[in-house]
Amino acid sequence: MTSSQLPVVGHWAGNKPYAGTSDRTLPVTDPATGEVTREVALASVEDARAVVSAAKAAFPAWRDTSLAKRTQIVFRFRELLNERKQELAAIITSEHGKVLDDAAGEVARGLEVVEFACGMPHLLKGFNTENASTGVDVESINQPLGPVAIISPFNFPAMVPMWFFPVAIAAGNTVVLKPSEKDPSASIWLAELWAEAGLPEGVFNVLQGDKTAVDELLENPAIKAVSFVGSTPIAKYVYATGTANGKRVQALGGAKNHAVILPDADLDLAADAMVNAGFGSAGERCMAVSVAVAVGSVADTLVEKIAERARGLRTGDGTRGCDMGPLVTGAHRDRVAAYVDQAEKDGAGVVVDGRGVQVDGAAGGFWLGPTLLDHVSTSMSCYTDEIFGPVLSVVRVETYQEALELINANPYGNGTAIFTNDGGAARRFRNEVEVGMVGINVPIPVPVAYYSFGGWKNSLFGDTHAHGVEGVHFYTRTKAVTTRWLDPSHGGINLGFPRNA
Ligand code: NAD
Repeated sequence: MTSSQLPVVGHWAGNKPYAGTSDRTLPVTDPATGEVTREVALASVEDARAVVSAAKAAFPAWRDTSLAKRTQIVFRFRELLNERKQELAAIITSEHGKVLDDAAGEVARGLEVVEFACGMPHLLKGFNTENASTGVDVESINQPLGPVAIISPFNFPAMVPMWFFPVAIAAGNTVVLKPSEKDPSASIWLAELWAEAGLPEGVFNVLQGDKTAVDELLENPAIKAVSFVGSTPIAKYVYATGTANGKRVQALGGAKNHAVILPDADLDLAADAMVNAGFGSAGERCMAVSVAVAVGSVADTLVEKIAERARGLRTGDGTRGCDMGPLVTGAHRDRVAAYVDQAEKDGAGVVVDGRGVQVDGAAGGFWLGPTLLDHVSTSMSCYTDEIFGPVLSVVRVETYQEALELINANPYGNGTAIFTNDGGAARRFRNEVEVGMVGINVPIPVPVAYYSFGGWKNSLFGDTHAHGVEGVHFYTRTKAVTTRWLDPSHGGINLGFPRNA
């Protein structure tokens, strides 16, 4: 459906590729070379409806498929994914740009959720009460919702969808995944794997596209719930529109994650952590540390140690064993570089400058090296905005209290960390900080699969986090059943409200 000769990444419905009817496409680039390698289909409303219909048609049989059979398929998917995870990692690197090892890490964290979902028979158990009233039993059962939509961002094309779909599918729902247009191929690879694992047709579907596709998912009455991950303005929009259309919505948004370094911290370990969490995946992680809050006397030494490490990083092609890859698109690289230009004009110190970095990669790649900004103030745009690139800002404060107030005043509340050897200070921070995920000497505190992932404030709209028991809760609804097996003693007319006896 395109005039160019490039392959087109299309949709997936009914366990097979679906080309759709729209002739709209977007180019997909390899960020390490800047070359357009393929195109991605952009669904029309009709295409979106066709994919949703496949999910709707599959739901009745899937919800009634025994838990034993459903779990066996999820288990088989786990086995195939584990065998072939390097293939998926290579696809991620070719479209996102993150280095191969990091892409493999993303797949491993997604795999964890698949393993969690293998325990669905236990997780779906309800509860019951015998003899709640005389001869009356009450039980609570958990049932799937129906077709559900997952709308995901570019920065984790495999892991973020896997936060949701293993749990949704194992619980008996059918899924329409709308991946990011920037790196769409991982989703089709995952769909093929589900088919190979024996998932019936229509249970897992992929809809490629932009706002047109998203809006149809938010409005189509067949879709019962929406899990969204992306930037805060779109998360807000998805939450407002989805809930206005009567859907259950969890919408995870952007972040500005602060790490506090107290005077008693081990500064070598803290500097290692700042570099790993600030520049890993070129800072394109929602749990990246973008602000290091240096408390008291540590700032000069800390900045020196971070700078030394940042200068030693190798930026380049993700397939060549480099530490850090390119940014996802040329436009995004330019946007991030513009924040560095502005920070310099605003008076921040550019201690390590990633503009004009020497790279191990093609000249056309979307490069920006690790950048360290010092003496950043809270009015500068490099502090107020989510930059989503390899830019770490150091803000200097005098006290723990100032550091805490800075974080709590921030509109985002995704992740944070504190570096200290003082158990009392760490315990106080854990209690007082207004952020959804907290690390104590752990820079990227992404919870394990059997806990739940989610931020506070502008980092999450809705009240349910991803995966873990909250994920099971999100994808099920509870039915309370009250039972009495009649015997002749129950006869007689009584129009009063039923009372327990
Ligand atoms: P994005 O908001 O641009 O896109 C996310 C999804 O929304 C994509 O599928 C995209 O196609 C769709 N979309 C974009 N514009 C839309 C519109 N106007 N109407 C409807 N749908 C639209 O985000 P991104 O750039 O792909 O991802 C980066 C962002 O995601 C960052 O802000 C990052 O912090 C956030 N993120 C958050 C988490 C978290 O757990 N909180 C995790 C990963 C990424």
